[in-house]
Amino acid sequence: MSADPAAKPAVSVLGLGMMGSALASAFLKAGHPVTVWNRTAAKTGPLAAQGAIPAPTPADAVAASELLVLCLMVNDQVREVLEPVADGLAGRTVVNLTNGTPAQGRALAEWAEEHGARYLDGGIMAVPQMIAGPDAFVYYSGDRDAFEKYEETFRALGGARFAGTDAGLAALNDFALLIGMYGQSMGIWHAFALVRSAGIPAKEFAEPLRLWLEAMAHSVTDFAEALDSGDHLTDVSSLAVNEAALPNLLGTLTEQGITGEFFAPMEALIRRAVADGHGADGLSRLAEILTPRT
Ligand code: NDP
Repeated sequence: MSADPAAKPAVSVLGLGMMGSALASAFLKAGHPVTVWNRTAAKTGPLAAQGAIPAPTPADAVAASELLVLCLMVNDQVREVLEPVADGLAGRTVVNLTNGTPAQGRALAEWAEEHGARYLDGGIMAVPQMIAGPDAFVYYSGDRDAFEKYEETFRALGGARFAGTDAGLAALNDFALLIGMYGQSMGIWHAFALVRSAGIPAKEFAEPLRLWLEAMAHSVTDFAEALDSGDHLTDVSSLAVNEAALPNLLGTLTEQGITGEFFAPMEALIRRAVADGHGADGLSRLAEILTPRT
């Protein structure tokens, strides 16, 4: 009997924490046959109720599907889970959506390929509740043929972006976005700390803060243009102007009894850039200062 060409590929999901459970559930909702395995077997229950087949061991999960999606806490655990079943990986595609470094992604790609598997490393740009929604997307890197084969399947989770054939690139892009987010969050926490020190409720300040951040969002594109052209000269806000104003910002934090430990390193970077003769440049110059050339 020949396989139904319209049938959706079977997927085994290994690791059913908050994220792995959301991934398995999204594959089920998109109509894929889904096998699930988790170290703590009880977590397969809610997914079995949605139609997933629980696998008692990783070997059963590997045997059940050509497409294997792993979502554990760290990459050492991925090796621990896959090493005992390495002989069953030949011809399969391993998609590792566990958070890790680019070097870990490359090492796992090499290991999986040595065992005859195709490998994609992934970076999930969503929290579990966003999976399958319009704002979720996942970076994939590694085996391009595997990505193209399963791209439609991956769309069950949200957007699918191929970051390159270097398996480390999904993690690198993932962390670049997280760094952008953490930097912004740090600013947001300081902003709230400052207004609250003056008795202004956070809720009252949330609206102007959100509007301000939205109005400033275009700076991402402006900085990118400056970096790619190498032309950092600005008529908007020069490093010299920022160097003059930052002591006032830090002074205000100190006056209000708030730590300046996020802005002190930024002030040091700006001072270094100005001392190096870049006072007329815009803040985009700081990305160059963060990347020392040898
Ligand atoms: P959870 O803590 O909810 O789940 C962790 C999973 O890893 C569980 O399935 C757990 O199994 C398993 N695990 C831990 N140690 C081992 C081990 N030694 N052997 C086998 N399995 C093990 O975390 P999340 O699901 O939230 O996160 C999973 C991955 O997804 C992480 O790498 C995280 O960085 C990434 N991610 C998470 C996001 C989020 O918002 N939650 C966002 C983007 C990425 P058990 O149930 O038995 O403990």
